[in-house]
Amino acid sequence: MNQRFESERKKMVDEHIIRRGITDERVIEAMLKVPRELFVEEAFQEKAYGDHPLPIGCGQTISQPFMVALMTQYLKLSGTERVLEIGTGSGYQAAVLAELAQKVYTIERIKILFEKAQKILLEKIRYKNIITVLGDGTLGLPNFAPFDRIIVTAASSDVPKILTDQLAENGILVVPKGDKFIQTLTIITRRDGELITQDAGGCVFVPLIGKYGWKEEN
Ligand code: SAM
Repeated sequence: MNQRFESERKKMVDEHIIRRGITDERVIEAMLKVPRELFVEEAFQEKAYGDHPLPIGCGQTISQPFMVALMTQYLKLSGTERVLEIGTGSGYQAAVLAELAQKVYTIERIKILFEKAQKILLEKIRYKNIITVLGDGTLGLPNFAPFDRIIVTAASSDVPKILTDQLAENGILVVPKGDKFIQTLTIITRRDGELITQDAGGCVFVPLIGKYGWKEEN
């Protein structure tokens, strides 16, 4: 274990997670545990514990630690849930989820990122409760539905019905909803078959691209 990264992680959690209002003890524990430096490119390792997104290649980003903690807190995980993540990216959010849920299914559409994340999650850290999938996450994973929680870590103009259809009763879906440049963090809960929507403030994510997302730009 690298002592320097460990103390940087603790500082990041104190200054950017706890001080900014994250209160879920399990989320805080997970953020203290997952080695974020493994999920960023070597050139950015020094910046791994700053509270900002970082490039991960292919025009994509690893989200800022506070946003990862906030979205995770909104999922209200107790440890028994099956979670679907759309947008594996670096794999960091999937690792945080794996610390807190029973099983995590994570989908990435870009092969290079999928392979890189898979290597870190399954071979390096060796999570046993993560399933990595290469494909279009806007379709969800109907064969494995319903999910207790769904987290979309890319910006969507709307919430595809195909995804809410895969949300279990009492399930929670978290998604950045808006245009390509700015979004509102949106929390959707399925209760008695109804979908209840709550806005949780502004955020900025890269676009969700796929059949029920934005079209790919050439
Ligand atoms: N959760 C990631 C992490 O911890 O590093 C950050 C995700 S990054 C902000 C958004 C990711 O969503 C990108 O890797 C992008 O390729 C992916 N993405 C966009 N549209 C997608 C889709 N339809 N299906 C799966 N992944 C998608």
